[in-house]
Amino acid sequence: MTWEPVIGLEIHVQLKTQTKMFCRCPVGFGAGENTQTCPVCLGLPGALPVMNRRAIEWTILLGLALGCEISEQAVFSRKNYFYPDLPKGYQVSQYDLPSCKNGIMLLPTANGDRVIGIVRAHLEEDAAKTIHVGGHSGRIGGADFSLVDYNRGGTPLVEIVTAPDIRSADEAKRFLQLLRQTIVELGISDAEMEKGTLRVDANVSVRPTGSDELRTRTEIKNMNSFNFIARGIEAEAERQIRVWESGEDVRQETYDFDAATGKLTARRAKEEADDYRYFPEPDLVPVEPSLELVERLRSELPELPAARIRRIEADLDLDRAMVLVTGGLDRLWEETVAAGADAVAAANVIANAVVGAGVEIDAVAPTELARLVEARERIPRAAFDEAIAKLGDVGFSADSYLAQEAVSDTAELEPIVDAIIEANPGQVAAYRGGKEGLLGFFVGQVMKETQGKANARVVSELVRSKLTG
Ligand SMILES: [Zn+2]
Repeated sequence: MTWEPVIGLEIHVQLKTQTKMFCRCPVGFGAGENTQTCPVCLGLPGALPVMNRRAIEWTILLGLALGCEISEQAVFSRKNYFYPDLPKGYQVSQYDLPSCKNGIMLLPTANGDRVIGIVRAHLEEDAAKTIHVGGHSGRIGGADFSLVDYNRGGTPLVEIVTAPDIRSADEAKRFLQLLRQTIVELGISDAEMEKGTLRVDANVSVRPTGSDELRTRTEIKNMNSFNFIARGIEAEAERQIRVWESGEDVRQETYDFDAATGKLTARRAKEEADDYRYFPEPDLVPVEPSLELVERLRSELPELPAARIRRIEADLDLDRAMVLVTGGLDRLWEETVAAGADAVAAANVIANAVVGAGVEIDAVAPTELARLVEARERIPRAAFDEAIAKLGDVGFSADSYLAQEAVSDTAELEPIVDAIIEANPGQVAAYRGGKEGLLGFFVGQVMKETQGKANARVVSELVRSKLTG
């Protein structure tokens, strides 16, 4: 029997509003611990919340980008639980009446668009940050004591819940890359996992391939990069398959994934909604956005990443289009192609050389980049690399680099190639034995010998003819 994973994601996005969700404390990193607080976000008696208008508008904007219905009436509720990072004893969160529901996101794949359902996107307030000191891995288990920084408490947080429509770890990763880029382009969050402004939990179950049953799912938490998420999902799906195949039942549990060891650790039984005793927040009125506001926000939506992938894919291929768009590189690519560069060559140079050199993308002049792309095989590799590294400099011109010629003269290159072949008999034998990937090794050695001045294409042809001849 074969199995397929059934994956749903819960994504938390911290909005980059200037102030918190229900008070005027500033939002942001870097301030001293517990300096950005007030009676409202500390939950002191008698303090009253006031809604942040921008956070509400941005949630609606995101909902529209995700094809959601925008609720005419959304209601904030109290989600009651005790934890030191929650001084009020409850979190204010939209519950049964969220701002956005029933959306979809199209995920372009080689076999057409995959439709991933968006169950809801709702607004809530973030909890404070708890820091566990002592012990290992920064988790509470084994810690000597814990500290709380209330600066984060009350920051506007959007929670996006997908339907269990995702079928592989790789699909989850691609979905998240696309969602993240959409959020960043809307200008509502930096959505950086390392900073915790984007956090993802995954709900995973497995079922016999082809069936439509939904078996018991588990939740994986604490994954801080898209690659770790993919690996965590993969590990959990494999674990569940082993459990079912051994004749036992998967239990509903929450796991932490440790990327360093690849191990999953059970955390606690998952709470049911009943445990939280939700009820409408009596200090806040319902959110009732006017049709006018919703239509204005809709008209402000830019062309979204998924649509751009489909559009530029026609000149590239899906993977390159995905890399360019989710890397925020496609505008530079389009302008570089418009300036005369070959589409595929420009995509490769931008996604590899330009990104690898850490160049600030917005500072690049597309016309100069187009000239470098066109000349990349003619000029010395060293000159090309140096030019790429300086692309972002003010007033950069490719002129001086284009004036240099790579050594393409085989008479000049042949003795160097011969010497390198002579000096590496082991690699020569391996290449002739079928390890053709070693071609790059020989080319690299010649480039090193010539300080990057040789024409890589000519060297590559020369090496190949000598080794096969
Ligand atoms: Zn405050």
